[in-house]
Amino acid sequence: MHSDVADRRSVTISALQHYLFCPRQCALIHLEQVWQENFLTAHGRQLHERVDSGAPESRKGVRFERGVTVNAPKLGLHGQLDLLEYHTASSTYLPVEYKRGKPKATNVDKVQLCAQALCMEEMMATQVEVGALWYWQTRKRLEVEIDAALRAQTLALLEQIQNLFRQGRTPQPEYGKHCKACSLYELCQPKLMQGDRSSAYVLAMFNLDEK
Ligand code: SF4
Repeated sequence: MHSDVADRRSVTISALQHYLFCPRQCALIHLEQVWQENFLTAHGRQLHERVDSGAPESRKGVRFERGVTVNAPKLGLHGQLDLLEYHTASSTYLPVEYKRGKPKATNVDKVQLCAQALCMEEMMATQVEVGALWYWQTRKRLEVEIDAALRAQTLALLEQIQNLFRQGRTPQPEYGKHCKACSLYELCQPKLMQGDRSSAYVLAMFNLDEK
């Protein structure tokens, strides 16, 4: 990880999932501050807004706190937790992230949860060994071990995003299946932009200026 904390911009936890989906999408949202709402993002936000509301409460030895803001300046990471459980008997924190869909084949949700755990560890000088993902569609809670492999994957991803932010250059589009589910498709115009890029490439090969 970059050693100079002062010249490093803090990364929002949500940027990790955006980057895994598409580095260009991550740059458009977090570097260029572009955001277009579609059904998926709107629905996701409604779910989070519903989860975020409510005062802290305690039940059966667990304290529940919603919409908890976390900030880890040493890591260069910040964000908000949907729910934080504090288990009094073991004095342990357990972050819970709500998702609208169902468990995914990739680690994208787990990485986000791990980032939350890493923030809690820096803030509270504690060890977070387990988190949980709660899936709206299946109404299932999945406990996730914050193990060494997941930590390494999350930190490597964070470093890539910090590099992207430091360079300040939005990557070119790579058109693929995922573009169809992208909330920024209209703004990105990946097919058009790829066409532009190939014409620029041909012109450059022949040392011609683009008109
Ligand atoms: S439309 Fe495709 S290339 Fe463009 S930001 Fe979205 S996923 Fe990335």
